[in-house]
Amino acid sequence: SRLEKRSVTLPDGTTVPCVGQGTWHMAENPRERAEEIKALRLGIELGMKVIDTAEMYGHGAAERLVGEAIKGRRDEVFLVSKVYPHNSGLDKIATACENSLKRLGTDYLDLYLLHWRGRVPLEETVEGMEKLRKEGKILRWGVSNFDTDDMEELWGIPDGRNCAVNQVLYHLGSRGIDFDLLPWHRAHRLPIMAYSPLAQGGSLRKQLLTDPAVQSLAEKYRVKPLQIALAWTIRTNDVIAIPKAGRQQHVLENAEAAAIELTPEDLEKLDRAFPKPRKKVPLDMI
Ligand code: NDP
Repeated sequence: SRLEKRSVTLPDGTTVPCVGQGTWHMAENPRERAEEIKALRLGIELGMKVIDTAEMYGHGAAERLVGEAIKGRRDEVFLVSKVYPHNSGLDKIATACENSLKRLGTDYLDLYLLHWRGRVPLEETVEGMEKLRKEGKILRWGVSNFDTDDMEELWGIPDGRNCAVNQVLYHLGSRGIDFDLLPWHRAHRLPIMAYSPLAQGGSLRKQLLTDPAVQSLAEKYRVKPLQIALAWTIRTNDVIAIPKAGRQQHVLENAEAAAIELTPEDLEKLDRAFPKPRKKVPLDMI
């Protein structure tokens, strides 16, 4: 598929397709459950094999739903989950990981992320992650919601450089990381996972949908404005976007967006409408 051709290389040489699937707010409405499972399975068939979840989502319910969706196809997916900061100490991380594995119905994660920074010293979380990696419970680990100074700190601690990705908020309407975090990542050859690549909903989403530059490109490529926004986040080869789609129609559209190759002129047009920051902006989060 086109998605396989547009892949991102992780520090250990593994390649993953540039569009995956998010799962936040899945498993919250029993009436949507069947469609959510179908949507995830369709996404896997279309090549969106990176599935992002977390122990936090629905207090474990999202992981259980993912477990159901990937039953019998574990080896086709690249499974990502996240540990709460308060579970990321040496006393708790192994249990937290074991619980995630149980809910997901698997015996390993492809990637385990620290969801955001809390009070546990980073050294301790890294030590816990490395232990899990050596035991084969996780194949690699990474972080989430880390700004440039956090990454610098991580780079200075033992084994900190074994980090595989940093998952942060990134979309056309929130491009603070273009100033310094993304350049830092490029210099260190460390991919970014872009969360909320469709601006989730809300007022920024509206801004994307109604912007004339986005609309004219949507006409040019005969796609929807949000597909242009998604194609923008994956315009380079070092960002993996993880849109969440609980409906099959949305999954199809997101997979299609991976085929849109924006030209330098298209990108200039979008830059004029959504300028890159000229100074440091603190990392945007939700
Ligand atoms: P997204 O930007 O992915 O937006 C999701 C919303 O967009 C849903 O309401 C979905 O609707 C809708 N949608 C999806 N595809 C389309 C489409 N083609 N056209 C129109 N609407 C569409 O927001 P999220 O915040 O969910 O981010 C994605 C994922 O990133 C999360 O699910 C989670 O896995 C991860 N994340 C990580 C965070 C972190 O701290 N590390 C924080 C936030 C998110 P529907 O479901 O009805 O299809």
